[in-house]
Amino acid sequence: MVKLAEWRGKEIFRKYGVPLPRGQVVRSPAEVAGALQSAGIPLPCVIKAQVLAGGRGKGGAVRFASTVAEAEEATRAILALEFKGEKVREVLIEEKLPIARELYVSLTLDRSRRLPLAMASGQGGVEIETVDESAITRVLIDPFPGLVGYERRRLVQAFGVTGPVAKSVDDLLGRLWRIFVEEDAELVEINPLAVVGERVVALDAKVIIEDDAAFRHPEFGDVRDDRTPLEEIAREKEIAFVQLDGNIGVIANGAGLTMATLDVLAEFGGKPGVFLDLGGTDDPKKVTEAFLLMAQAKPAAVFLNIFGGVTRCDTVATGLVEAMRQVPDAERFPLVARIRGNNEAEGVAILRSAGITSLSDLKESVQAVVAAAGGRA
Ligand code: GDP
Ligand code: MN
Repeated sequence: MVKLAEWRGKEIFRKYGVPLPRGQVVRSPAEVAGALQSAGIPLPCVIKAQVLAGGRGKGGAVRFASTVAEAEEATRAILALEFKGEKVREVLIEEKLPIARELYVSLTLDRSRRLPLAMASGQGGVEIETVDESAITRVLIDPFPGLVGYERRRLVQAFGVTGPVAKSVDDLLGRLWRIFVEEDAELVEINPLAVVGERVVALDAKVIIEDDAAFRHPEFGDVRDDRTPLEEIAREKEIAFVQLDGNIGVIANGAGLTMATLDVLAEFGGKPGVFLDLGGTDDPKKVTEAFLLMAQAKPAAVFLNIFGGVTRCDTVATGLVEAMRQVPDAERFPLVARIRGNNEAEGVAILRSAGITSLSDLKESVQAVVAAAGGRA
């Protein structure tokens, strides 16, 4: 998933003729005066943190300024922010337009219907998840003819606009569809799409490019993914490691077993916090490395669920015991292991002699780890 920052999304919009406020990206307060001048941005202006998380408006990451000095000050303040865990490195400065109404529009994929989906709402400017279903119009799009006239009219009606504004929306929808297809997007979202005078203007831009099409877009090769710092380290070490919201660490091997383990944990009231897929690792050092990375995520308890095939149970057990020795006492967590398969007896013996709980029944082991993490078992 290549999530683009607002300014990159707007660069695409510009290429396709989507109406935008005048704006420019800066990376320090010293660039502000020059940017206002060269991009012809009048005052008052808007200063926006270029982070991937939403909710900037509510979170103090969008500010307004009516003088150059205020714009510089707002830029300095926003660049000092860490917004939802993400350091702000870039700021977008734009002209502040007089908004008559805020609308919502997006194009995405409906994976269950396997069709592109357009969504429109007259209640823009707030998170779409909080908008009442009855205020959202959904139109499934036949991908071959594309977003055709009658579909566009249904969306225009959803906004309740008429006359030149309706014409401007209709024109915009055609451009968004082209972006969606030609740029291999899985999401193109404008929230808010603002009614300004007799036309609509994209005040925000959220564009996600399909991973599978990323090779067709070398221009986004330098886009940072929204990986956490630990996920970034894991990627460099070629360890499949993902952080979630819960508190139980999961180590399994193979995508199927890993996903199934997460499901079973959830079924028994546990909340997976980080998971690690050892894949076909046959190297105790790699197991140790992966495990130490997991320790850094500070799980309340860890569940090791391994099926020994290519990966032998004793290899994993050896790596695990070695890793546990390297984790400082203060950061130790309860560990429940379930290892089955190739060299199971040897693996279990290694774990038990190191004092690690080793169970063979899935339900029993899941209940043990959920209890150890302080959850419902
Ligand atoms: P988000 O909260 O991260 O989605 O950031 P947005 O880009 O949607 O900006 C949040 C809010 O700032 C918008 O809903 C608008 O109300 C306001 N805003 C952004 N640009 C302008 C502008 O040019 N003029 C005015 N008046 N308000 C703006
Ligand atoms: Mn927005």
